[in-house]
Amino acid sequence: MADIIEKPAVIDPPPNLRDYDAMFGTFKWQDAYDRIEWFEDGTLNAAASAVDRHAESSRKNKVAMYWEGESAEKYTFLELSSLSNRFANVLTDIGIERRDRVFIFLPRVPELYVSFLGILKTGAIAGTMFSAFGPEGLYDRLHDSGARYLITNSKLLERVQGIRDDLPDLERVILVDGTDHSGTANAADASDAANAANAADVAENDVIYSEAIASASRKFDVARMSPDDPAFMLYTSGTTGKPKGVVHRHLAIAQQHATTEWVLDLHEEDIYWCTADPGWVTGISYGMLGPWSCGSSIVVHDGRFDPNIWYSMIERYQVSVWYSAPTAFRMLMRAEGAHRGHDLASLRHICSVGEPLNSEIVYWGIRTFGLPIHDNFWQTETGGILIANYPSVPIKPGWMGKPIPGIKAAIVDEAGKEVSRGVEGNLALLPNFPSMMLTIWKNPAKYEEYFMGGWYLTGDRALQHEDGYFLFIGRADDVINTSGERVGPFEVESALIAHPAIVEAGVIGKPDPLRGEIIKAFVVLSDGYEPSEELEAEVRRFVKTRLAGHAYPREFEFVETLPKTRSGKIVRRMLRAQELGLPIGDVSTLE
Ligand code: AMP
Repeated sequence: MADIIEKPAVIDPPPNLRDYDAMFGTFKWQDAYDRIEWFEDGTLNAAASAVDRHAESSRKNKVAMYWEGESAEKYTFLELSSLSNRFANVLTDIGIERRDRVFIFLPRVPELYVSFLGILKTGAIAGTMFSAFGPEGLYDRLHDSGARYLITNSKLLERVQGIRDDLPDLERVILVDGTDHSGTANAADASDAANAANAADVAENDVIYSEAIASASRKFDVARMSPDDPAFMLYTSGTTGKPKGVVHRHLAIAQQHATTEWVLDLHEEDIYWCTADPGWVTGISYGMLGPWSCGSSIVVHDGRFDPNIWYSMIERYQVSVWYSAPTAFRMLMRAEGAHRGHDLASLRHICSVGEPLNSEIVYWGIRTFGLPIHDNFWQTETGGILIANYPSVPIKPGWMGKPIPGIKAAIVDEAGKEVSRGVEGNLALLPNFPSMMLTIWKNPAKYEEYFMGGWYLTGDRALQHEDGYFLFIGRADDVINTSGERVGPFEVESALIAHPAIVEAGVIGKPDPLRGEIIKAFVVLSDGYEPSEELEAEVRRFVKTRLAGHAYPREFEFVETLPKTRSGKIVRRMLRAQELGLPIGDVSTLE
């Protein structure tokens, strides 16, 4: 079959979907709280809502997590519940108190997931960090949060040693080592861990995870929390300044649960793979809490990105719902054909978040898996999905979709006034949804800066079509002003990657005396293409037919890679800094 398909402007939902409209009805968040069976006397605990609820039901022996790293393991809801109880007991024994900050600095090993749940169960606040962070990124987070305990392994501990003396609040390190991830160690494993820990130069009162957890009770009296009590925090980098500690409440699980059902279309029998690391909010809200609260089995892959490995994961675990990011999809597109030879028939629904989803990726999904990719929009600060192509709405490729029930999104001008449909402006939300951040840690002034006239401002530019769909234009700081016209990088990048030779593009505004800014495109070529003047000329001809004259990039540069955050976002401000010879900063500390 030819690899050419139609590129429809609208893709209708599949027939026989469950009745979303009836489900939504005249939805109000209060209805969701009333419906949530895990609320007791107005209190809850997100870890119990996500996992213990199932461990106490007929689902207790159902697999909650299929884990694959250097070996493959699986954990039932009952096992996850008992292990996290044990870990909560370990923390209690060393004196943890409610609201203490406990940070996790681990690769995606099972202990990361167990300890996250265990921390929540004690009423403390869990913080996560990418295992790729270096000392600077670690220091910013551990120092600002005043973290009391840090969970890491002896290899990563080396990056902490140089800053440990400058972290007066950090009392103890809990060291995860050894190969028995279930933590109910046999003696040999515990002694391996102890040896590794000794080699790592631990402090006297540090704790060896496997030893401590093996002797801890599997029963724990889970802390009952008020809906607005903090549960977890993550640092997010703005365009300037230090990363900010975004704090989320236990109640956020109400939105994570609802949107996992509505947007990710997760049913209890699904096998679900969220490729995001828990160092990024997606890996928490939709990598753990949302899907577990729905009783689904999750798949975790602790390893590097490789198209073959990824497709084998889907095949081996019969993944039915897959949640990933445009950057990963683009890398898979680049390895065009790598899916052949893998049976991917288990896939039923695919979603994307984190960056604008170029329509080309949606069409690639249809071509490759027979399924369109569903875009959705949210942020670290919002804790849960806000705008989405949920399964029952037709997809308009290139558009983010519509606000989910219970969310009021709008486009506002600089004075906070709603603009007409079709007019570009600031994407804003009424901040009355449960997964909205509680605060910015120790920085209420920063928190206040997000609001204007009752709206929460996302920092993104967008427009809303007459039909209610939202179109992403760009981060406010990335929008280009050329000859008096505003151009969003997404539009230009999407036109570029529609050319088969281009897999990825980053577009910036470059100061120009005549036009204010001119558009410069950095492009990464697909496998099998080499930079040449002919190719550049051809790409120029190609984009000229797809973009308005003023949006046409005047400068081109072929590059091997684009600077990205740990969660895979193109960092256009780095491209700009590089171009202008300004200090670039350390991209490895960005989430
Ligand atoms: P983070 O808090 O790191 O998840 O980043 C949130 C930002 O990522 C948003 O403010 C957007 O700039 C961008 N983003 C996330 N999802 C989308 C999407 N579906 N389309 C366009 N941009 C997105």
